[in-house]
Amino acid sequence: MKKYVPTLLIALSFVTAAASAMYAESPATEPSVVDVKNTKCIVAKDDVGDSKLTVTYNGKIYHLCCDDCKGKFNADPETYVKALEKDPASYGVKTN
Ligand SMILES: [Zn+2]
Repeated sequence: MKKYVPTLLIALSFVTAAASAMYAESPATEPSVVDVKNTKCIVAKDDVGDSKLTVTYNGKIYHLCCDDCKGKFNADPETYVKALEKDPASYGVKTN
């Protein structure tokens, strides 16, 4: 009987590790969208002001000043996102 104990302990620790791994993964699978909160239009660099226009791209919300800019953004999103990420401050993004 005694020789079964180590096997049981190994099996038990394996189950515990698997369970904790599953628990750790669960928050990461939830979709999360981050608001970039740029106060200058990502396309025109004009003040966003009261505009409620936004685009969501790669899990991030970017603010726009007008519909024209939304069309331009959707035509070439990578270009505008890269420009913002290169110099967030000029888009009114607070980077801490
Ligand atoms: Zn605009």
